[in-house]
Order: sequence, then structure tokens, then C-alpha cells
Amino acid sequence: ATMREDRIKKSKTVCTYCGVGCSFEVWTKGRDILKVQPEKDAPVNGISTCVKGKFGWDFVNSEERLTKPLIRKGDTFYEATWDEALSLMAKKFSEIKENEGPEALGFISSSKCTNEENYLFQKLARSIFQTNNIDNCSRYCQTPASAGLMRTVGIGGDSGTIEDIKQAELIIVVGANPAESHPVLATRVKRAHKLNDQKLLVADLRRNELADRADLHIHPKPGTDLVWIAAVTKYILDQGWEAKQFLAERVNNITEFKQSIAKFTLDYAEKVTGLSKEMIIKVATMIHESDGTCVLWAMGVTQHLGGTDTSTAISNLLLVTGNYGRPGAGAFPLRGHNNVQGASDFGTMPNWLPGYEPVENDEVRGRYERAWGTSIPKQPGLNNHQIVEAITDGRVKGMYLFGEEMALVDSNINYVHEAFEKLDFFVVQDIFFSKTAQFADVVLPAAPSLEKEGTFTNTERRIQRFYQVLEPLGDCKPDWEIFRDFANKLGANWKYEHPSEIMAEAAKLAPIFSGVSYDRLEGWESQIWPVTPDGESTPLLYKEKFKFVDGKARLFPVDWTPPQQYSEEFDLHLNNGRLLEQFHEGNMTAKSDGINHIIPGPWLEVSEELAKERNLETGSLVRLTSPYGKAKVRVFVSTAVKGKELYMPMNATENERAVNKLTSSYYDKDTHTPNYKEAQVKMEMLEQK
Ligand code: SF4
Repeated sequence: ATMREDRIKKSKTVCTYCGVGCSFEVWTKGRDILKVQPEKDAPVNGISTCVKGKFGWDFVNSEERLTKPLIRKGDTFYEATWDEALSLMAKKFSEIKENEGPEALGFISSSKCTNEENYLFQKLARSIFQTNNIDNCSRYCQTPASAGLMRTVGIGGDSGTIEDIKQAELIIVVGANPAESHPVLATRVKRAHKLNDQKLLVADLRRNELADRADLHIHPKPGTDLVWIAAVTKYILDQGWEAKQFLAERVNNITEFKQSIAKFTLDYAEKVTGLSKEMIIKVATMIHESDGTCVLWAMGVTQHLGGTDTSTAISNLLLVTGNYGRPGAGAFPLRGHNNVQGASDFGTMPNWLPGYEPVENDEVRGRYERAWGTSIPKQPGLNNHQIVEAITDGRVKGMYLFGEEMALVDSNINYVHEAFEKLDFFVVQDIFFSKTAQFADVVLPAAPSLEKEGTFTNTERRIQRFYQVLEPLGDCKPDWEIFRDFANKLGANWKYEHPSEIMAEAAKLAPIFSGVSYDRLEGWESQIWPVTPDGESTPLLYKEKFKFVDGKARLFPVDWTPPQQYSEEFDLHLNNGRLLEQFHEGNMTAKSDGINHIIPGPWLEVSEELAKERNLETGSLVRLTSPYGKAKVRVFVSTAVKGKELYMPMNATENERAVNKLTSSYYDKDTHTPNYKEAQVKMEMLEQK
């Protein structure tokens, strides 16, 4: 028995799925993944995991894994060596840079990959190709939340940790479905609600699991969250319930702010949101009566024409009520992917260098230029939405994308596909031959988290290390090695032998990471940025100061932007979101037979009222049409949705059923995040059950 035990390898890893950041041991024998063993020392989850973390690892040994570099020849691809693939890339990208200028190149980074890989990819774009045209998928989800927080409190991350969520007296969840999207975090809310008498308020179109358990579930009309939030804030001020001392000592701009919300009366809010005045008063009263409120929000808030403004309104409300800088309170935008926080933190954004320092700032840019021995353009680059636009009109000719399924998850994918067809040269690096890879000229085989080392940063700003469990399959390589080898092909002299060296470089250059090191992240240890040079974490932000020169927060006036208007024939509102069992479109989870057996593909939730009116049953096949495209999907009659509001999960591994055949190219006016949550469609019956 001992012999057998000996051959079992136990390695600590961090979950590759959502932004909660669970860590656990993976037990392997050879390439077989025997089990996932949670340990009580795991800082975020202890002994909890969800179905994805526990059972979602079959993809690693899937026969569909890419194992060799591929080069396009006509309509097919042939297997190539690394040398061949990287040489071709070096030649093509250099030609584009020389002939069309650096701004003709675009770089799309991966929030599934490590902090070190994200750091290196932006270094590649900026220092070797002299372009800031780099972005990651937070542009599709939480950039509006970050922008709203930057405006008001100065840091674009959660203001506290899951500990604060547990301790709060009131949790408000707006436009998020944590029970499915952030399951282990949701269990903490459920437990506190049950055992600690925590109050729970959910604002959502759909009656999701937390809404079902909530003390109050409010259902405003789609796209009107800013209005009820501002009305609640105004009501609190009108009653004199604001945190007077906190506002006087720590917050700027109260007079101007008060004027800006004058229009958000109870009457106005009732008319716009459909919520009764009593309901709005009830929400305000719940906040007033609670000693400590946390607001959790996600895509239901951000993916709108006014997503940044609504995020700002949430932060304004928290400031007015003094819910920053103390335990059991604060702002919690919930990060989707395992490392969407880290991808932005480590600089894969067109306007920020690592640690959210502006690329336009001469001192900051100079620091990187000296360290890297190159020049970096001062002008911020294009974000991923603008890159697609620029491909469409011929300004961007070459693109390098890794670990992103843009051809399926971007909004209005018909438009995105047309753009990809126009690229002169397109490199896609992934673990599978994705939908996006079908448009590529070169496809590079990367290694998933179990086959490499690195760090991920969760929604709490917590950096955690994970260890290599398996050897890379076939010719696969960790993404950071591919970037290093590619840079060296282009004449750089990058000597990184281990991700710890990349982290050491980032820590030296970006002040918020100054005390981050692999030594301090050994085993179950973790660090929460900003980290002081001597390694001290900052779990709770703003204890003494907000991140502005005078240390004070700013109330930031915002107005409501009505959602996108459609012509009358598109008479149904289409919402979309995640599922517990499948992650996103499912390119990893859908490789687990067990998971697929439970959740094979997406469906369309239709209210009982609408099903009756249109003569639909669970199982009926319908076609949805928007101004942008069509999708075919089966109906699921559900009490979770109401009236003319539909809901569709986003787990489509093929185009025909993808919700993004229907979404538009309109976006949040401040950050260019697509308005995924403002789709309107018409519905035709194709086949009764
Ligand atoms: Fe992984 Fe998120 Fe599930 Fe934790 S809650 S196991 S991080 S998917």
C-alpha cells in the first residue's frame, strides 16, 4: 500500500475557472487526475469547492488538445515545428510593423493565464512592437466597475475581502448570480444569511438562487439600475441618514453631487424602474438600519450603455453611507475568470502599465523604458473593441491572441467573424483548436495551468501560487515560454527560466507589487495587493486614505443612459448569463462527460405567461432574431423569468446556439464594454416539442 501511495503525487493548485480563487491539492498518478482534495489551509475556500473545481479537469487529458504548432495552407493546417512557426510569426509581424506601423498590430491577452504571462505579453507588445494596442477580456465584463471605482475611490478592485462579505450586516447583490457564477463565495453569503442574521437584498431581472433566499428581491425594468440606486441615495440624504462625519472628513464634492441627484425623486424612479416608491424607501431603510453594507455586482450592471455610470452610482451610495474603509462593508465587483483581475493588474490594457499606472505619465513610462531598454509609445492604444473596428476598416492587419475565444464570446459575433477574415496575419495560441483558431494563420499549442507554474489573482486582489502537476502534453509549452522564445526570435535577449523571475521584475517596477515574491507565496501562503516592500498585504483598502492625492474620495455625478432602443418588432428582452456546471461557452468544462451529461447545451428560459400566449412548452424549438443575427434554441418554461423577459445561458460551443449571434456592437460609453444585457429579439416557433 505504501508503494502505491508513493506513486501518487499531490500538488497544490489554484482553480482555473472562476474569480473566487479556490485552491486545493490535485492527486495524480502519471497523467491520471485521481482527485481534487480540498485542504483547510486554503485561504479562500478551506474545504469547499464547487462542481467545476472538483470535477472539471478532464479537459487536460482531452484527445482534442492541441499538441503541435499549426500553420495554415489554404483551407487547412499542417503540423510544424516551433522554430518554423515562430520564424514565420517573426517575419510576418515585423513586415506589418515596418510597412504599416506598430499601430497596425493588435494583442489580445488571456484572463485564464497567469500574472507572469500577462506581464510578459504586454512587455512583448510594448517593448518589442512599440504598441499599446493590447487588451484583455475584462473589457467584456468588469472594466466599467473598475472605472466607476477609479472615479470615486481611486482603485479598481474589491475594497475588501470575502471576510468582509461574511461580516456585513447587509449584502446587496445587483445584476449578478453568485450561486452559479461564484459558487463558493455564494456559500459564504448563504451561511452568513442563515447563521449570522445577515440581511440579503437582490436586484435582478431573474429570480436566481440568491434572489430566492433573499429578504428582499427587487426586479427593476431592464437597464434602470442607476435610477433606483440614485433614488435610494437621494432618499438617504433627504432623511439626513448620510454618514455625516465620514463625508465631512473623507469625501469631496458633496454639494455638486447633491445637485446632480436632485432629479432622482421617488416619483421619477417609480416611473422609470417600475419599482414602487415604497420599495425604494424599503431599500434605503435596510441600508440605514444596517451597520455595514457590502454591494456585490457583476455583468447585469456593467454590460450596458451606461455600465460605468451605474458602477459609479453604487460607489457613490457606499460613500454617502460611510461604507468604505471599515470591516464588513464596501464595493465588490465580482470577477469572472480565475485571473481577470490579474490580467488587468499586470498591464494588459491599452492605457495602463502594470499596477494601474498610466502609460501617458512620463515618469512611469520612463521607468519601464529604462528597465526594458526600449521606447514605449506615450499614446494609449486601442482596446479590444476598437481593435476589431480597426481590423474592419483596414487599420489593424496583424493580431496575436492567446487563451480567448473571441469568435464566440464577443458580442455580435457575425461582425467579429467578418473582421477576422480580413486580417493579413493572425496568431491564436490556445489549448484547443477553438472557434477563433479557425480564422488563424498560425495556431500555437499552449499548456493549461496544471502543466505549468505561475500565480493567479482572485476577485479579492489575492495573489496565489500554483505548482506544476503534469508535464506539458506533446509539444505544448507554457504561454510565458512561448512569448520568451518569440521575443528572442525577434532579437531580444530574454533570459527568464522560471515564472518567479518574471514576478520579481514586475515587483521591482510596479509599486503595488513591490513586496510580492514567490518565497512569500510558498504553499498555501497568499498576498493581497497593494503589498508593501516588506511583504505586508492590504486586505482592506481605504482604512485611512483614498487613492487620490489629497487622500479623499470623490462623489462623482452621473446621469442615467436609457438602454439601446430597438424597433417594435423586436418585442422581447433577452438576458444572458453563466451556469454553475459549465464555465462560459464551455471550451473546458464541455470536455467532461459527466458535466455534459447534466448540461448539454444552452436553452431559452421563457416565462409562463409568454409560453401560454405563444403556445410554447418546455422542449419547443424556436428561432430568435435580432437586428444582428439569428439563433435556434429549445424553450424551457420557467418561473424565474417574468413577462416578456427571456434568459439564455451562454454555454454554446457552437455558433448556431450562441447568444452572441444576437447581441449588438453598441457599448458602454466610457469603457467600450459591449451592452450584452440590452438585447431585444423576436421569436418564432419552429417545432412544437
Ligand atoms: Fe473554482 Fe470558482 Fe468553483 Fe472555486 S467557486 S472551485 S474558484 S469555479
